[in-house]
Amino acid sequence: MNQTDAKCFTKDFTLQEPISEEGIEKALDILRSGKIHRYNVDKDEKGEAVLLEEEFAQYMGSKYCLSCASCGSAMYLALKSIGVQPGDKVLCNAYTLAPVPGAIENSGASIELVDIVDDYTIDLDDLKRKAAADDVKWLLLSHMRGHITDMDQIVKICTENHVELIEDCAHTMGASWDGKKSGTFGKAACFSTQTYKHVNSGEGGLLVTDDPELMAKAIIYSGSYMLYERHTARPPLEVFESIKKLTPNYSCRMDNLRAAILRPQLKNLDEQCRRWNKRYRLIEQALVKMKGISIPSRHPKESYVGSSIQFSLPGQNEETIIRFLDLCLSRGVELKWFGNSEPVGFTSAYTSWQYLGKLPDLKNTKRILKTMCDMRIPLTFSEEDCLTITEIIEECLQEVLS
Ligand SMILES: *Cc1c(COP(=O)(O)O)cnc(C)c1O
Repeated sequence: MNQTDAKCFTKDFTLQEPISEEGIEKALDILRSGKIHRYNVDKDEKGEAVLLEEEFAQYMGSKYCLSCASCGSAMYLALKSIGVQPGDKVLCNAYTLAPVPGAIENSGASIELVDIVDDYTIDLDDLKRKAAADDVKWLLLSHMRGHITDMDQIVKICTENHVELIEDCAHTMGASWDGKKSGTFGKAACFSTQTYKHVNSGEGGLLVTDDPELMAKAIIYSGSYMLYERHTARPPLEVFESIKKLTPNYSCRMDNLRAAILRPQLKNLDEQCRRWNKRYRLIEQALVKMKGISIPSRHPKESYVGSSIQFSLPGQNEETIIRFLDLCLSRGVELKWFGNSEPVGFTSAYTSWQYLGKLPDLKNTKRILKTMCDMRIPLTFSEEDCLTITEIIEECLQEVLS
């Protein structure tokens, strides 16, 4: 095709929808009051952070919830509160985002990376082998880009090997496995409210658990200044008694302003997930037919949220992939690539986390990430936009492969 009549896409792949008027009104109320800090409320007044915690716990069907500064800090608090000690080994799938190994490193633990399989989820055989080691007690499972592995197997492997599970649900807020919400399979789960996830407060995180001691510790670690009684999605006060002087303050709180803009979004979350999936399925249906592209089929028990899509170009070398990505980009379609030897933007392969020390040679992770492309699907894209994007991808692919 002649470059001049090639169709270009002009919308921004990082543009989320605006905050709703209801959220803006609430935010303005907070700003006008000046009471932004979560504990800056009248006696017996429930602040926005407290209400958000109640509502998210209810949404999840979890007993307790804590709002945090980020999902990364929620994971860090979860690891500390579950009892991870410096030097402990924490298992984690090698295909994940940088804040996940970062949280493990922050807790003083050492990370044991687990390989992945062709559907981009954790390799259950490698997990089984590594979980069987006597010195392994923890798994931080990252549902990276919303791909949920067989959770029945995960729970079985963890139970059999006395490994405690924490779920990283940054991309699975609103998703479920076999009708059970993602984030309810382990001891604790962490969610992100960062701009590029399923609800948007700029930055923010949510930690849920049914474990009273874990939540009491997390609240104190998060920096509750002995005001923990003001939380409502918390265990009974006596649980705090024995731990309050033994638990430092790491200052990882969320404020009322962010909570205020999140509450209306939470009410609308399931509808937003449906809108994401409509777009995802349009794109998937088009891509899956294209020669040269492979999209792993998803498990029938998985109810995912298609806020991004991943596909592979199996058998293609690095040079071809780079040409394909460049060509797409020149026509306004921004794909990401975890196969790059250098970390770029939000994207990094595990081999660039050199601060972790000696990194394992995970052949499948390396092979899979080498040919995997990743694309955001913001809700600011119409269904028609999704079709335009797939047409451009198809034309670029044909050009590169011809
Ligand atoms: C974004 C993300 C996180 C961390 O979220 P923050 O709120 O930015 O700390 C964790 N895990 C995955 C897979 C993510 O994509």
